[in-house]
Amino acid sequence: MDKNIIHYGVELKNFNSWKVGGTAEQFLICDEKDILASFIKKKKIKLPITIVGLGSNLLVRDGGIKGTVIVMNGGLRKINNDENLIYTEAGVSCSKLSKFSAKEGLSNSAFFSGIPGTVGGALFMNAGCYGSETWDYVQKVLMINLNGDQIERKKSDFEISYREVKNSNKGEYFLAAWFKFPKGNKDRAENEIKELLAHRKNTQPLDWPTAGSTFRNPKDNFAAKLIQDCGLKGYQIGGAQVSKKHANFIINLGNASALDIEKIIIYIQKVVYEKKNIQLLREIKIIGDEIES
Ligand SMILES: Cc1cc2nc3c(=O)[nH]c(=O)nc-3n(C[C@H](O)[C@H](O)[C@H](O)COP(=O)(O)OP(=O)(O)OC[C@H]3O[C@@H](n4cnc5c(N)ncnc54)[C@H](O)[C@@H]3O)c2cc1C
Repeated sequence: MDKNIIHYGVELKNFNSWKVGGTAEQFLICDEKDILASFIKKKKIKLPITIVGLGSNLLVRDGGIKGTVIVMNGGLRKINNDENLIYTEAGVSCSKLSKFSAKEGLSNSAFFSGIPGTVGGALFMNAGCYGSETWDYVQKVLMINLNGDQIERKKSDFEISYREVKNSNKGEYFLAAWFKFPKGNKDRAENEIKELLAHRKNTQPLDWPTAGSTFRNPKDNFAAKLIQDCGLKGYQIGGAQVSKKHANFIINLGNASALDIEKIIIYIQKVVYEKKNIQLLREIKIIGDEIES
């Protein structure tokens, strides 16, 4: 896909980990943040803007997305270390951030290695696992607004909680971030990544298209356990199935539509509420339009 030009009618199933969804009315990947800023400043793109990182937490509906989809992964990939402050652009993968930081002899970044998204997506979601979260290590971020202005913001400008980050300045997107990890040992940090990835392979259905954990864990509980206890492992609608390996993952067996996945999400919520009196909240984001009938 050529960068720095606007494409029309691009199939979004190639840009999300569930491999479903319709087309983008307009579609753009930029190499450099200044190029992206210029597209926005000169009003060359149609609003609304939808930002996609690696699409690993997204259900894109079958009717597609109006306006412009800007994909961060594929461009905005600069990463460097300035006196143990890691600067990374939003399109860098979390796995790259983790490996790069370990190589620089910094610790605590291993948790990023198993998150198959971009830094931008991790900032937006406050992605995390095994007791660590993205914003634990953020010093400051660079945002872009709907005028194309680039603005540095402090961590204290955001309201940060479990898988949720609120920015009172609406219409801003993450362009880059500066992370501070404690000094550590390169070999130890690299081993930690290897162990974590092996653990994930054993516990998650990584051979199938999924978007990771579909639901947030309710307070003092686990979504996967609740779904499993309701007997839903293996439950199927069309080409979508509740993973038999990890009940909070929904897999695309190959021919799922976004609607199959959305239906199974609603069904799980209904059954868990009826049987456990707990309302499961989605972790994944649903975007786009339903197909008009
Ligand atoms: C196998 C698997 C395992 C996973 N494990 C974990 C895990 O352990 N922990 C965890 O937290 N998540 C996990 N996830 C979910 C997912 O990887 C994370 O939520 C990740 O942070 C999403 O990043 P992304 O780049 O793919 O974002 P996308 O899915 O592309 O987007 C997610 C949201 O972020 C917004 N967004 C993306 N980039 C930007 C930006 N630059 N500026 C503003 N908004 C933006 C999008 O508009 C969207 O609303 C897993 C997913 C899979 C498939």
